[in-house]
Amino acid sequence: MASDKQDTFVVVGGGIAGVTCAEQIASQFASDEVYLLTASPLVKTVTNFKQVSKTLEEFDIEEKPSSVLEEKYPNLKVIQSAVKLLRAKEHLLQAENGRTIHYKKLCICSGAKPKLFTQDNPHVLGIRDTDSAQEFQKRLSKAKRIVVIGNGGIALELVHEVEGCEVIWAIKDKAMGNTFFDAGAAQFLIPSLEADKKERSLPCKRAHYTTDKTGAGHSGASGELGSALGPDWHAGIELRGTVQNSSGVHIEYKCEVDKIYTQQEFLQSKLNTKKSELGLWPAYVQLTNGKIYGCDFVVSATGVVPNTDPFLSGNNFELAGDHGLRVDDHMRTSEQDVYAAGDVCTAGWEPSALWQQMRLWTQARQMGWYAARCMAADVLEEPIEMDFCFELFSHITKFFNYKVVLLGKFNAQGLGLDHELLVRCTKGHEYVKVVLTGGRMVGAVLIGETDLEETFENLILNQMDLSRYGEELLNPNIDIEDYFD
Ligand code: FAD
Repeated sequence: MASDKQDTFVVVGGGIAGVTCAEQIASQFASDEVYLLTASPLVKTVTNFKQVSKTLEEFDIEEKPSSVLEEKYPNLKVIQSAVKLLRAKEHLLQAENGRTIHYKKLCICSGAKPKLFTQDNPHVLGIRDTDSAQEFQKRLSKAKRIVVIGNGGIALELVHEVEGCEVIWAIKDKAMGNTFFDAGAAQFLIPSLEADKKERSLPCKRAHYTTDKTGAGHSGASGELGSALGPDWHAGIELRGTVQNSSGVHIEYKCEVDKIYTQQEFLQSKLNTKKSELGLWPAYVQLTNGKIYGCDFVVSATGVVPNTDPFLSGNNFELAGDHGLRVDDHMRTSEQDVYAAGDVCTAGWEPSALWQQMRLWTQARQMGWYAARCMAADVLEEPIEMDFCFELFSHITKFFNYKVVLLGKFNAQGLGLDHELLVRCTKGHEYVKVVLTGGRMVGAVLIGETDLEETFENLILNQMDLSRYGEELLNPNIDIEDYFD
């Protein structure tokens, strides 16, 4: 069993957070050894990074063999092996390949895994990495009807992209996409779900995600987790079922899954329903509103759980309510010299009034970068201030081929009744919503090519009193940029 000296930096995880962290540390401490341990054979690298405005950023992601990183940073060694044990008091990690590594500073960036509403059910699939997306594609190619559960970004993309297969979409809220949108925005987007697929397939201008074509499998040898996919995870994979003219998406609002039956269980059950009318399907889903649907399989897209398992046993990590490793404003966990970043961690500091954690690509990059700077500052005994990116939540993405920009408390998160909304909507073109509290802008949702993101970002950051402008703020005949220049 090999053992390394204790003056090394170690980062766990080859996703955005881990790679960004390892790169930053390796470039800052060029004469120190930096180890990146990852369960997946490919690593994610950020390319074409563009700072769109003060806080909005766009970049592309490429999956590459780890040798690319090692060539760029001679002091960075990538070990493709999952961590199976951490002994934080002794500052050592054990990898599945039998290797033991001592560290002086460790950053855990092991991501998250899909929160399946039921485990080990062959009829239920979660989507997370390239392997699971391919498995989904394979099963979809033989399917006539699927049931999708969940109301976040993955479910939204999925129901929009699937063709040639009927989709029953069960959501527990009264509007779709509630992680990102309110009911008004959902209403704006619904026609896109009903539109003809050909009309919808406009070029996508969102950050792109490419995969190295080495043919390497994406998960680790022992079925370990690969990195989480990101925007456009479905690009390049045909998501098509077997039905020529599928009847599209049917949404069941305000309900959850009560029970899933195999065909045999369903036929033998004493359910009070006309079974023959439901047809013969591999599985049957009973919803809490009482309805039962037969389907080929179920996709569970009900969020993620931080992937902390290999690190907890024998250690004293403080976990947050969502099971993430709680980190302070220096990305430090409760174990000495152990930091965490990305989907695996939960921000435990008092956040700015305009920021909230969401497990997204941009935040994984920002946290990985900031964690590296904090590790460096601690080693060098230098002070470090919270990075500006944590001042204002901001996210650019695409849903249903519309550009979507989310700023601050875009859904009035945590504001209770103490807020006012201004909305401007042109069907099929744009949806603009601003959230005001005490006359000051605290959040915005911009769907379509509104060109308002920079102006609104400034108005949110400078907290100018906008009371006297009232609804004029969204008057389409006023060039708002000139107004505030
Ligand atoms: P990950 O990318 O998950 O990386 C974790 C790494 O840790 C992997 O390399 C894994 O192999 C490794 N690992 C795990 N366990 C171990 C272990 N024991 N030992 C060693 N290594 C280990 N975000 C957006 O911003 N926009 C989107 O449109 C979007 N769409 C998404 C669509 C899908 C289908 C999914 C699943 C996620 C999506 N996300 C999106 C979220 C985004 O992908 C994640 O927030 C982000 O990738 C998290 O990065 P990370 O580095 O923290 O974790």
